[in-house]
Amino acid sequence: MIPEVGFKSMDTASILVIEDEPEIRELLRFTLSRAGYEIQEAESAEDAFKVVERRLPDLMVVDWMLPGISGIEFLRRMREDDYASEVPKIMLTARGEEASKLKGFVAGVDDYITKPFSTRELLARIKALLRRAGSAGDEELTGNGIVMSVSSHEVRVDGDAVHLRPTEYRLLQLLMKNPRRAFSRSQILDRLWGRSAYVDERTVDVHVLRLRKALREFNRESSISTVRGVGYRFCGNLSKD
Ligand code: CA
Repeated sequence: MIPEVGFKSMDTASILVIEDEPEIRELLRFTLSRAGYEIQEAESAEDAFKVVERRLPDLMVVDWMLPGISGIEFLRRMREDDYASEVPKIMLTARGEEASKLKGFVAGVDDYITKPFSTRELLARIKALLRRAGSAGDEELTGNGIVMSVSSHEVRVDGDAVHLRPTEYRLLQLLMKNPRRAFSRSQILDRLWGRSAYVDERTVDVHVLRLRKALREFNRESSISTVRGVGYRFCGNLSKD
């Protein structure tokens, strides 16, 4: 799955609404677009998977009771995805029982709203979650003297900027984010280009080569090591600040 490179201000954040009832979807579309958000809609979890595959939203509003795959099951599957698992999610539910709420949180929900809901309350929750997610984006990844600032998309070694193209940046981010874990070429392909894209596995080698070349200027090319028979991993004394 490919998250878009580039950052949006909070006002133009995109929200994916997954709701099968047309009236509620209409209400959400009206409320959220008037508040300045960009809306993507899905009538079912099956549709939502396709939307997410094309472009990762900044937040998801998920109805619990959906035809076919339920909202809970959808969230469970999203949790398995490295990128989508980090997107804040609000669940819409008609069920008020504590047990149900707990089940929702276990499945990776950040917040929930019980139907019928006040649009003002929903907007307040959305704003709060986006703010929280925005500050989480300030995270820095460091290792082997390389400092990656996730919010500004900058990579530095001893204060000097390392110039990377978007794909090399995402590749480095994936490897630094998963310290010591070796990724196969096909895993890297999935994460960087999405499962549906047709890209040759050798493309991964090309980007690894470019990344190493960029790091060589800073004497850091050994940070990307080849794991024989597997693929690549980040090599270095990693810490997540
Ligand atoms: Ca429903």
